[in-house]
Amino acid sequence: MPLHTYQCNDCQSVFEVLVRPPRRQGPEKCEFCGKNNLTKKPSAFAVTHNELDALRSLDPTYKRMVEDQMAKTPEAEPMRHLNKLTPFSAASDPGDPIDF
Ligand SMILES: [Zn+2]
Repeated sequence: MPLHTYQCNDCQSVFEVLVRPPRRQGPEKCEFCGKNNLTKKPSAFAVTHNELDALRSLDPTYKRMVEDQMAKTPEAEPMRHLNKLTPFSAASDPGDPIDF
């Protein structure tokens, strides 16, 4: 898979770029700070056998980026939907079960 991983030597950001023909060259600039001080890394997903290994091999910088974005996105809060649910004690009786 032509998915290449690059690390910026300035801001240490790691990002993946899908390189497909005719664009065979990788990025020239860091996606985050714009500097052109990139190192190509072996793709985590090309050398691992399952998703768990791939997740473990993710750079901590990437994990921090994901968590930062999650914190900025209230819609991503998993408990949000639970808080909207009506507890059984407060729910009205829906009537007899439907017989299919
Ligand atoms: Zn950078």
